[in-house]
Amino acid sequence: MPPFGISDEMYRATGATANNTGDKPRLLIQPWGTAANGGIPQHECFCPLCRAAWEDPKLRRNMTTFRVSSSLDDYYKIVFFDSGPDLRHQMMEASATPYRATLETGWRDTRTDCTFLTHGHYDHIGGLGLYSTGRAFKRPVYAPSDLIDAMFGTNENPGWYAKLGRLDEDYVKPIPLKDGDARTVLDRTLRVEAFEVPHTDRVGEDRYHPSRTFGYDATFLPSGKRLVFTPDIKELTEEAIRHIEGANLYVVDGTFWSDDELERTTSGKVNFTSTQLGHIPIGEGARKPAGLGGLKAQEWAKKFRSSLEVLDEVAVEHVLFDHFNHSNPAVDPKTSGWFQSKLDEINSKYKKPKFSFAKDYVKIYL
Ligand SMILES: [Zn+2]
Ligand SMILES: [Zn+2]
Ligand SMILES: [Zn+2]
Repeated sequence: MPPFGISDEMYRATGATANNTGDKPRLLIQPWGTAANGGIPQHECFCPLCRAAWEDPKLRRNMTTFRVSSSLDDYYKIVFFDSGPDLRHQMMEASATPYRATLETGWRDTRTDCTFLTHGHYDHIGGLGLYSTGRAFKRPVYAPSDLIDAMFGTNENPGWYAKLGRLDEDYVKPIPLKDGDARTVLDRTLRVEAFEVPHTDRVGEDRYHPSRTFGYDATFLPSGKRLVFTPDIKELTEEAIRHIEGANLYVVDGTFWSDDELERTTSGKVNFTSTQLGHIPIGEGARKPAGLGGLKAQEWAKKFRSSLEVLDEVAVEHVLFDHFNHSNPAVDPKTSGWFQSKLDEINSKYKKPKFSFAKDYVKIYL
């Protein structure tokens, strides 16, 4: 039965399938965007995959926003991991209708419990400006402290995001986090711990542009199920692996399949490797340059393993590759078959498939 005050139609629109009348509490995780910066298709791109995606809406992918909700409130409230610039469009596509709003609430209510930002790249923060329209809900925005500084600044020297709200300057509540900080949100059911990961560019002694990068380790307290979220990560460090170990779902950077993918797909016109751009490749790590690098072949092979190679050895229930670039052959329908069969081959070693490629809006229940 739909909860009190919600029409059948609206209830169905949320996609809710369980409530709190005896079912085990569940956590819903729904990727609302599974592409890298620019989405698929990218703005003004006519590469083979983008060309296909301009024509076929089924091939399109939004930029990073992950929605997390609990069955304890019929999946109403949302904790967002990242807030990509497609957010408004994603709210509509996911039917996240703000249906509890009435004239008494000025027709506006919010479903956002809070937002956790991983880092300052545009594809992860561009949606926050939407909260500056109309009623100010002042929902918490947690982020690395240097990102909060860069976005919101200080009273004397406000940042670009600080005064966007014309009706109320404090349209969100920025809250800085340090490496290791934890917050319990979603009616005290979800404990989220921040941990630093390598991704953004280091621009000086202990300074990063546009900010440091965090991963989030989230435990749903009613069931103990755990989600670890690092959509952008350059290397699976020992600390990252400590968090991934034992998780029920690990969302990992899948921007590129191979380290030299940009060079290959642009016939050498783009000379950045996956690792140089701060992304660990899924399937093919960096090749050792002849006579360079200082590392012995074995050390090199260990340091530059692909995420598939590393994660195959880590005890984690499921790994979801995410954050695909338009160059990634694993998500191009003309070539994806080979890459899927590669995952199937590895998955066949496990009782339950361990690796998969993320898709926008597919619901995952933990
Ligand atoms: Zn990104
Ligand atoms: Zn393209
Ligand atoms: Zn990034």
